[in-house]
Amino acid sequence: MSKEFNASRLDVHAFAQSAGHLQGQAPLGALPRLAAEAQGGAGVPEVQWRAEGELQEQTGGPGHVWLHLQAQAVVPMVCQRCLSLAPISLEVDRSFRFVADEALAEEEDNDSEEDVLALSREFNLLELVEDELLMELPVVPRHDSCPGEPRMSSSDADFEQANTEKVNPFAALRELDLKK
Ligand SMILES: [Zn+2]
Repeated sequence: MSKEFNASRLDVHAFAQSAGHLQGQAPLGALPRLAAEAQGGAGVPEVQWRAEGELQEQTGGPGHVWLHLQAQAVVPMVCQRCLSLAPISLEVDRSFRFVADEALAEEEDNDSEEDVLALSREFNLLELVEDELLMELPVVPRHDSCPGEPRMSSSDADFEQANTEKVNPFAALRELDLKK
């Protein structure tokens, strides 16, 4: 555990072997592709992440190399419902298995549910953090509930109205029967 690891040039195998631990935080601007999605909000949003390495025993084999990643970020985006800025929370919690090379990684990634990546001695962990956060971006960003608009109650009322207007087909049949 005394070994120092560098997040932007990580020796993944050594990290797993020593059950390494890395965590950090960075301003959103340090992840330019993610920052490009952010609308000019107040303050400097921060990205937080942590990673753990794990070497899983494998009988008769070299063992499986795993990297467990968690990341969080809040990205200000334009809410598509009220068109004001909404703080969109992104959360990543994923594990990646590393194999010997790219070809094998591609093959195994297709064949299994797991996320498989190629081993590297200079793996850019921050790039992976950014990739994963980008995948969490909502297609249609919006507030959980928009500020300044009692939207919930009005849409509830619409829903109630739609419900009561709907004619119960059995009741309609009974009515027909009565009219005979
Ligand atoms: Zn909104």
